[in-house]
Amino acid sequence: MKITADTRPIALLGHPVEHSLSPLIHNIAFEKSAQPFVYVAADVREGDLPTAIRGLGALGFRGANVTIPHKRAAMELMDEVTPQAVATRAINTITCERGPDGDILFVGDNTDVTGFIASLQPMIERVMDRPALVIGSGGAARAVVYALATTLRASRTVVAARSPEKAQRMVSELALDGASEIDVVDLGQLAPHASQATLVVNATPVGMHPDVDATPISDASVFSSNHLVYDLIYRPRRTRLLREAADRGATVVDGTEMLLAQAAAAFARWTGVEMPLDDVRGALQAFQD
Ligand code: NAP
Repeated sequence: MKITADTRPIALLGHPVEHSLSPLIHNIAFEKSAQPFVYVAADVREGDLPTAIRGLGALGFRGANVTIPHKRAAMELMDEVTPQAVATRAINTITCERGPDGDILFVGDNTDVTGFIASLQPMIERVMDRPALVIGSGGAARAVVYALATTLRASRTVVAARSPEKAQRMVSELALDGASEIDVVDLGQLAPHASQATLVVNATPVGMHPDVDATPISDASVFSSNHLVYDLIYRPRRTRLLREAADRGATVVDGTEMLLAQAAAAFARWTGVEMPLDDVRGALQAFQD
């Protein structure tokens, strides 16, 4: 990729950032689509976030991704936010736009919501209007529960979490209109809900590299061929949860397509063109297993 005086930078703001796949994804996509941008990872400590965001504007950055631990704090520093960001109270994408008076406007979006929905498109009829179980109540669970309760119209969503009070707070903060039934249970009580759900989503890091022998559902007998089991983890692609669910006949989905789809939504915002997904998918595979 040729970097010239016209190249505009885009940053990942997080802490830590050294294992992120986003620089790989976006730089391949910029190169393949001949877009004049470069993506760099910036390790930003919590107290430095406001300075880092103001710096994006001052230095002519096109935007940024925001990751742990800044997704919620960054939202407070935006001039405009999308409805998904308002509902989930978190952003993962910033676009720097010029306002009418020439000032920089920071626009925040949560492309995890779009990414989760887009990744389910090939099997959408299996998830629309069906019961779902979401394990976890962190940032990713917020986006998933919001997507289930809105676009995917889940008939009922159960959130199983090791901190049910925190999960209950997350559900009330989602600012939903009450049209969708959402219940919270303790992680220890998830088995019957896993049996009854059509879609089961792991939104915890349990099973992620390097703890690949861990699983959030120890009794895999809850799964059958009726289940679609989705693990948001993308390293490894085949987690223990997915292996055991597949052995019971369930359809399984790993986090790679959501990772790609949330990146593609951010890429389109910054560049105005579609991400060359096949090129990026091929390059990504080599880094995952
Ligand atoms: P997060 O905000 O830190 O939330 C993690 C959640 O998992 C919290 O609810 C936490 O419970 C729970 N948890 C952590 N360790 C646990 C354990 N040992 N047992 C039970 N629950 C546990 O993280 P996140 O951003 O939501 O990410 C969660 C996972 O999704 C990660 O693996 C991440 O890589 C993946 N992810 C994938 C994509 C994608 O595009 N594929 C996007 C976002 C995230 P407490 O609240 O009690 O701590």
